[in-house]
Amino acid sequence: MADPNSPVLVADKLTRHYRVSRGWLRGHATVQALNGISLALHAGKTLAVVGESGSGKSTLARLLCLIDPPTSGGLVVDGTDTTQAKGDTLKALRSKVQMVFQNPYASLNPRQRVATMLEEPLKLNTMLDKAARQQRVAGMLERVGLRPEHAQRYPHMFSGGQRQRIAIARAMILNPRVVVADEPVSALDVSIQAQMLNLFMDLQAEFGTSYVFISHNLSVVEHIADDVLVMYLGAAVEQGDKRAIFARPLHPYTRALMQATPTMHGDDGTPKLDISGELPSPLAPPSGCAFHPRCPYAEACCRSEVPAARPLEGRMVACHLAEKIES
Ligand code: SF4
Repeated sequence: MADPNSPVLVADKLTRHYRVSRGWLRGHATVQALNGISLALHAGKTLAVVGESGSGKSTLARLLCLIDPPTSGGLVVDGTDTTQAKGDTLKALRSKVQMVFQNPYASLNPRQRVATMLEEPLKLNTMLDKAARQQRVAGMLERVGLRPEHAQRYPHMFSGGQRQRIAIARAMILNPRVVVADEPVSALDVSIQAQMLNLFMDLQAEFGTSYVFISHNLSVVEHIADDVLVMYLGAAVEQGDKRAIFARPLHPYTRALMQATPTMHGDDGTPKLDISGELPSPLAPPSGCAFHPRCPYAEACCRSEVPAARPLEGRMVACHLAEKIES
């Protein structure tokens, strides 16, 4: 039995590398998709993961949901080490971490009625009889704001927002400890996004579910998160309490992300950070600090030494010069 005060999800230096072919006679290369991510998520809390496209956010999501195994590192779900788990233990662990994807239409089976889609995980993972399963499905549909008659319809008969409600219902039907949501509102109309965020928060308050909430939208993150993990090229560059990070981001990359969000810290009078160029390839990450080719503060040490994550002002920061850089 897991200690109720222990985190429900603990990642320890999670790493995922892929070997890819570079073509005829050119051998193989290694894509360093994720490099040593550590985190701890407590019951009923939300960790937001932010970073540019290609920063490793979705790779992290797949590892946390036990879809892909890590190359190295540890992952503990509800007190059980997943890296050693097999068979029924692994199946039980997978039911505790569910995923909501960005595109609800692609993630729902177009040939299945909603009721079948929601009942299937109950058939596979519980001993509930048919009547009890149908009762659970009806209750969850109501809970996510759908009507009883929606149970017999197919995904194409719904709007984008309703489809995402179905996807959320499917993720929640087994009462998981953790839901990993990968850009769950970014494909929806702006008018629907706030409703969907409120639904996530209501369900969390009711069921005590923990969320890993991946988003490139920092306004969404500010609304929903307790803690924030900022990723750059597969690694954590700043990580900790949302209020501390939003009040005073310490890593130059976090500052640049926030200044790129118009309604946030872009007009506060501080000098703008110009991070030109694109994210480097994870096939050939830069030496030292991976951010150094784009960082306006880079010094010689940044090009040669990888900055270790260290505690500073209530969060962890991986930057050699964080104290020197004025926010
Ligand atoms: Fe910039 Fe150097 Fe800090 Fe990296 S370690 S973010 S290059 S100042």
